[in-house]
Amino acid sequence: MKDVVIVGCGLVGAAAATCIAGAGARVTLIDSGFSTAIGPGRHISQDPRLHFGSEIRSRLTRGLLHQIELTANSVPLARGAEFAIGIGAGGAGLVWSGVTERLDSPTTLARLFLQSCVEPGYDEAEGLLGVTDSVEYVDDALATQLPGVRALRCAIWREGPTAYTPGPADVLAHARGGCLDIRHGRLATSFVHKSGKVARLTAVNVRTKEIENYRADAFVIAADAIRSPSLLVASGLEPEQGFPVGHWFTDHPLATTHVYAETSLGRKVAECLQKPEGTTICRGIALGPGPHGAFRIILSVPSDDVNRPLLAFYWYAVGNPNPANRLLFDRGEIGDFSALRPRIEIAAPMAEAGALDALVKDLGEVASEFGSAQRGWKPRLLPLGSAMHAYGTLRAGLSPDQNAVTDADGRVRGFSNLFVVGSSRLPAPSAVNPAFASIAGALVTAHRIIDSSVLASVPSPKSDVQKGQLG
Ligand SMILES: Cc1cc2nc3c(=O)[nH]c(=O)nc-3n(C[C@H](O)[C@H](O)[C@H](O)COP(=O)(O)OP(=O)(O)OC[C@H]3O[C@@H](n4cnc5c(N)ncnc54)[C@H](O)[C@@H]3O)c2cc1C
Repeated sequence: MKDVVIVGCGLVGAAAATCIAGAGARVTLIDSGFSTAIGPGRHISQDPRLHFGSEIRSRLTRGLLHQIELTANSVPLARGAEFAIGIGAGGAGLVWSGVTERLDSPTTLARLFLQSCVEPGYDEAEGLLGVTDSVEYVDDALATQLPGVRALRCAIWREGPTAYTPGPADVLAHARGGCLDIRHGRLATSFVHKSGKVARLTAVNVRTKEIENYRADAFVIAADAIRSPSLLVASGLEPEQGFPVGHWFTDHPLATTHVYAETSLGRKVAECLQKPEGTTICRGIALGPGPHGAFRIILSVPSDDVNRPLLAFYWYAVGNPNPANRLLFDRGEIGDFSALRPRIEIAAPMAEAGALDALVKDLGEVASEFGSAQRGWKPRLLPLGSAMHAYGTLRAGLSPDQNAVTDADGRVRGFSNLFVVGSSRLPAPSAVNPAFASIAGALVTAHRIIDSSVLASVPSPKSDVQKGQLG
């Protein structure tokens, strides 16, 4: 039996682990976070008190996130920024909302990446997450009033009368029968590598402070778009020309408003989004694309007035990747949650000029057709990072000469047995939530690991760039 070590037991690491273990390999999952599962194979979203939009869920979300320090050079950040990482074992996947739309392809690079690295994994990812329409039907009358409207696609698990958003523990439940060893409270600190091959991973037991070494045939980094690059830099793989570790940091600017459903259109939508008893999932509709390709969704949230249902509008601008937006790492200092302490430097706008004004204007106009804004919730841009959709920091290239850190298989360029999965690989602008594409991409990489020579222990072809000879 072959061995694979995966760093990170969020949604993406769990999906890769499930697939690889299912193929007969022995998988060790290492996660620096503390365990929050309410029972084996159970996820905190199953708790009926944590239904979507509830105050207790928002508090739990804030408690499970850790803010990352940010500097902005010449980019005005009107209300600060809120980039964060998930610190429980399961990461952001413990508190995500489950929106699982397929990514759009606004550029040639995006289309190439999606076709080769993501789309082959979508169907399997849908099965793993139970992706389905979040509302049973969208009224014909609504479709006439809102051209392009449709039910939002969401990850939904059902257990008896309960419908909930699955988390990593639920994904891992698919791996029953596979050989999985899950180690919580282990912070991966660096890879020991030579001539483009990782020999072992070093980790710290967060509780006892003991150093542990993990050997395997293949190593997969699934530690989110901030901590995955941190681990590469801690392993001696610094950013350089053509190998931009931690550069191209991107997120979607996000605008929002909360509206009491008062008009006939508002009431119709509120009725369509009403939650059945025992449902903790988010229920929503998606409108057709907004200005500059914005992704526009409307969800129902609990109202402070029983007679007036409340609708939450989220308008996501297309993220604009730029190499000047990057992660910086404090050398030699192991952070509480990552291999090196990360900081974010934003030097270029994250959306096209004019796109943000158009986003807020469109949001205001559309929302006013549904009713009036809740106090304190007039249409506005949220602080940068609020979307929690960081991507691009270990971007994929589809040919060796591209400015990229990973190749089409998710392999770190220059290495035979080191892979990256997750949104850090997304090289393209996007307006849609990235977790689903990240999971689909992780499954594609998992299959390539299973099928490739890595697990057959045949020496890999010589690398396309010199990275990895560093060690
Ligand atoms: C409130 C909220 C709502 C969201 N809603 C949506 C949504 O509806 N749709 C959507 O697409 N996206 C959503 N997102 C984003 C989504 O949750 C993330 O894109 C997704 O969970 C990322 O999964 P991941 O496995 O790559 O990373 P994470 O979930 O962050 O998991 C990474 C794991 O790696 C571990 N780790 C990190 N570094 C190390 C290390 N050095 N050693 C060991 N372990 C390590 C961490 O402990 C963590 O468990 C939301 C996020 C938040 C916060």
